[in-house]
Amino acid sequence: MDGQEDDPAAADVFAAIGNERRIAIVYELQRAFRDGDAALPYAELKRRVGLRDSGNFNYHLQQLVGRFVHEREDGYALTYAGRKVASALTAGIFTDRPAGESLLAPGTCYACGAASLSARYERERVYVACEDCGEELLHGPFPPGPATRRDDLLEAFEGWTRRWNALAAAGTCPECGSRMTATVTDAAPPRCTGDVSHRFRVACTECWARANLPPGCLVRDHPRVVDFLATRTTDVDDRPLWDLDWALHRDSLDLVEGDPVRLRLRIPADDAELHVTVDAAATVVETAVVER
Ligand SMILES: [Zn+2]
Ligand SMILES: [Zn+2]
Repeated sequence: MDGQEDDPAAADVFAAIGNERRIAIVYELQRAFRDGDAALPYAELKRRVGLRDSGNFNYHLQQLVGRFVHEREDGYALTYAGRKVASALTAGIFTDRPAGESLLAPGTCYACGAASLSARYERERVYVACEDCGEELLHGPFPPGPATRRDDLLEAFEGWTRRWNALAAAGTCPECGSRMTATVTDAAPPRCTGDVSHRFRVACTECWARANLPPGCLVRDHPRVVDFLATRTTDVDDRPLWDLDWALHRDSLDLVEGDPVRLRLRIPADDAELHVTVDAAATVVETAVVER
């Protein structure tokens, strides 16, 4: 069988969670965990879910046991799959309908230099664009629930995106933990991030996760880059990814070898540049500090 679309076991798993009472059990176990109870005893869980009929409650609980809920000596607790379901519900993936309001974003546009950036939330993604020239600087997914609830959405999105990219660059899928591969391309798919000659297509070998990213977005949190920026600049912590021209614009990227591809990114600081060389699989193969 190719893929899991026709897997009857997977369908059973979703049938097992498809009930209000069982969702309530998952929510209560999540709430208990957050309040410091790693597990809840049977009677306490039943009380919290609010089902008087023991047979009915037990029936629903048993549908979850072994898949979304562990039965342990001290009671019932969420499994990893149960936690993922709870997180997905909390992230609002299935229920929230956020409005696409526009927010002012800090920084300047790499294309025209204007300090008039804005961000909007649309189709479950944050888009940062220049109001003056219309360039789209950066965009990426962010869960709809927190997008509507958080008043620091842009900071949260920026941190989320950088961690996502850093995990992908390290070869691990940020969505499912499987292996992530990167391949270089000089093609620019529609609506991709940044304006560069070459990008990396990162893709999970098992799940849907993939992105087309400029090399600078992938190496932003590489230890050598973090160290260089921390020692040579004073404002790096204040500058979001969409404000880093070297990460998003072609002027900072050189093709040093064509076959196999090697790219060199030049990251400026006040008095020096960090040259970061990456291979065709986005691995950092060399770094050098060049005084200016
Ligand atoms: Zn602009
Ligand atoms: Zn994955």
